[in-house]
Amino acid sequence: MSKLFMKPLKKSIVDRFPNISITDADISKSASVKDLWKNNQWAFSDPIDEATQEMWNQIKNNYCVTPGNIDSITWKAQSNGLFTIKSLWRNLNVSRCKVPWYKIIWFSGNIPRHSFTTWLALNNRLNTKDKLVTWKVIPTNICSLCNQYPEDVNHLFFSCKFSYEIWNCVLKDMGKRRLFLCATVYQIWLAKNGVIFNQKVANSDQVFGCIKADAAVVANYHLVLLPVF
Ligand SMILES: [Zn+2]
Repeated sequence: MSKLFMKPLKKSIVDRFPNISITDADISKSASVKDLWKNNQWAFSDPIDEATQEMWNQIKNNYCVTPGNIDSITWKAQSNGLFTIKSLWRNLNVSRCKVPWYKIIWFSGNIPRHSFTTWLALNNRLNTKDKLVTWKVIPTNICSLCNQYPEDVNHLFFSCKFSYEIWNCVLKDMGKRRLFLCATVYQIWLAKNGVIFNQKVANSDQVFGCIKADAAVVANYHLVLLPVF
């Protein structure tokens, strides 16, 4: 039988009445529901205050106990009561509007690490230097790739001279394809991290070579290369 204060009645009484003290309710913390269900009715002690009375009334008016029924666990986020990772994910994430451009990033035949990095970049969730300075992790926000301008997402991936050269190569030689868009963002991010963590300064030709190599890994990639911009 369920513990009254722990997991009864689908939702804990503690959750429903957060201001009620268990000790004030004059019921043992380990009390079971069956301890308070006598002769087919609730048997609560006299309430010590109005809040406790309200709690007792809430229980009396809304719940009854069917002795003999076996306790069961039901996953309320799913109509059939069964737990699934998908329903958990839906429950944790408040539904938000789909952005019209999401298919530019997430598409059949993508390279997940490229898409993930690009998604973070477009949502300004990468730890670029402008953020690290704000968090006092590093002392300066100067771009690791050009050493000239403050580094934020827009600068790092689009207006930085280093990145600009790479985009020129990509657009000229590989076209406007979403696979290359994500690969380019990913490789620019890798190049920047290479400077910071390995003191390895890549040039734009090397980064462009990596982008082409990544694209070549995707078998039959021409099937998924749809123009996007
Ligand atoms: Zn730069």
